[in-house]
Amino acid sequence: MIATNTTFAVTHGDGIGPEIMASVLSIMKAAGVDLTPVPVDMGEKTYLSGVTSGIGESTWDILRDHPVMLKAPVTTPQGGGFKSLNVTLRKSLSLFANVRPVRSYGPYIPSTGGDIDMVIIRENEEDLYAGIEHRQTEDVVQCLKLITRPGSERIIRYAFEYAKAHGRKRVTCMSKDNIMKQTDGLFHQVFREIGEEYPDIEQDHMIIDIGAAKIASHPHHFDVVVLPNLYGDIVSDIAAQVAGSVGLAGSANVGPRVTMFEAIHGSAPDISGQGIANPSGLLQAACMMLDHLELSEKAALIRNAWLRTIEDGIHIADIYWDGFSIRKVGTSDFTAAVIERLGQKPAHFQATTPVTESRINIPAYNRETSNKVLVGADIFVDWAGADPEVIGTRLINLSGPNMKLKMITNRGVKVFPGGLADTFCTDHWRCRFVQVDAVTKGEDRTYPEVEFSTLLDLQSRLSEGGIDIIKTENLYEFDGERGFSL
Ligand code: NAD
Repeated sequence: MIATNTTFAVTHGDGIGPEIMASVLSIMKAAGVDLTPVPVDMGEKTYLSGVTSGIGESTWDILRDHPVMLKAPVTTPQGGGFKSLNVTLRKSLSLFANVRPVRSYGPYIPSTGGDIDMVIIRENEEDLYAGIEHRQTEDVVQCLKLITRPGSERIIRYAFEYAKAHGRKRVTCMSKDNIMKQTDGLFHQVFREIGEEYPDIEQDHMIIDIGAAKIASHPHHFDVVVLPNLYGDIVSDIAAQVAGSVGLAGSANVGPRVTMFEAIHGSAPDISGQGIANPSGLLQAACMMLDHLELSEKAALIRNAWLRTIEDGIHIADIYWDGFSIRKVGTSDFTAAVIERLGQKPAHFQATTPVTESRINIPAYNRETSNKVLVGADIFVDWAGADPEVIGTRLINLSGPNMKLKMITNRGVKVFPGGLADTFCTDHWRCRFVQVDAVTKGEDRTYPEVEFSTLLDLQSRLSEGGIDIIKTENLYEFDGERGFSL
């Protein structure tokens, strides 16, 4: 078997990909990095050859023996039928953590956010990105948001372990658990639980909206930030933009076995072939890869030469600024300038010192079992009428002897019994049924158990009575705790 620490998989990408990859590989070679790149087949050509995932079959075999990959950006062809290559890689290889260090390089590269040095750790596989969407009525489409305990434990523990390994002081969690009490509530709850195991690391939680605003206005206040997938996607681009460095940042997609490193930008077809692409984002990604491979001396050598080049005002067009830039260069002159400075330290920026990044090991998930009891169902109904009293009365008449209609909501707002005439109603009605002698007061008290067959009988009666059922969600209690929103 090929030793994994002497090789890495590499994809040269599309657009500016081959130009910036050539630059990065030549800097690594000049720095004495003794690793052999093994090319893999993915990107535009693969897509156009008829492979809808954009990833050639041999790539999976190569990744089996070479679990570290440096990836240049690829172009997703226009038109339908092509799947996102990045999403396929993340999900197929369980690349659960997206790690994006965000730094500013003022005054040489202007940043609107002061002195920034933070790391955004985004959950990479779950949340709304599961891509489970349905159209249910004339008016309504839905997307399923999945947050799991193993997924949350894994990413949050990774964030704390990352902070520990990199000498970082604080981990901030962001969620919207004031609204999404079950899904984001779980993420926040797991953050509290795992945080207890790291008493030496400061920890706080922010609601995502104010958190994102603070990242835009006071990014220098943040250290490590951990977020579910969608919020992480948005916040990491805000942070990179504020730092003035979308073209300068690298990222890692970390899995239990495979780790993939890439720049955060795309294949920039608008400047492809002009010799003006900035290789810095991919170079940062390559340095993260070297840290991961425990070649931090080499990573520090390259980072210091790059910092020195930036300080010396040798800038590519995308970061050229009249105030501090001295020489506008293309990709090959920039590459030569970095190579010339290998061995030098920056004068203004703090020099990078090698990190002894011990591998972050995430323990296997230990599933606990609680007592799960079926207590009712939310039956979703397609009905084009306008008056909730009408559908409410029909459902009560069809409920039968064992089940009771507790309430109807429309887009999450209770409209029956009671409800306001002002509430706009669509054709998508959530109708909650519980056992007939369910406790009517005190929502925190447990409901009586319901037989599954009783729910099936109820649905049959409703359907025979002309009710258009579009889906049901069973209501469960776990160890007496409600597992559904009120
Ligand atoms: P982009 O990041 O490629 O380009 C946005 C702008 O930034 C362009 O003006 C471009 O010239 C500039 N730019 C980006 N990187 C640069 C660099 N290194 N040096 C100088 N300027 C740079 O985003 P886009 O235009 O939305 O996407 C282009 C293609 O890239 C699309 O096919 C998209 O699917 C793909 N893409 C791939 C990845 C990836 O492989 N990880 C990520 C994002 C987009």
